[in-house]
Amino acid sequence: MVSRFNPLSEPGTINNWTILCPGAGMLPFKIDIMSKLAVPLSQQLWELLQSKFGGGPAINVLFACGNCKRRAEMLTKCQCYEQTGFTRYSDAELDSSAICATSMS
Ligand SMILES: [Zn+2]
Repeated sequence: MVSRFNPLSEPGTINNWTILCPGAGMLPFKIDIMSKLAVPLSQQLWELLQSKFGGGPAINVLFACGNCKRRAEMLTKCQCYEQTGFTRYSDAELDSSAICATSMS
């Protein structure tokens, strides 16, 4: 697989790390749009493109990274918990000088 090149005459080196985590698994939030990000190539075409442009890595097997998936699920739960607390406190009668904040990153 190779990430799709933009329609440039000199697209630069191949960089498949934009769709992979450091563990070489698929990033959870990119799995659903995989068909828009990359296309499967024959080994022969991959070798031609890789020799012409360099870069990589070659992706022979696509798999969802379990560690990244668990991390994303934990972040979602944390954000939901913070949002619930934020809503509860912001709806309550509080000192008007109180500031409530939550992290969405
Ligand atoms: Zn990962």
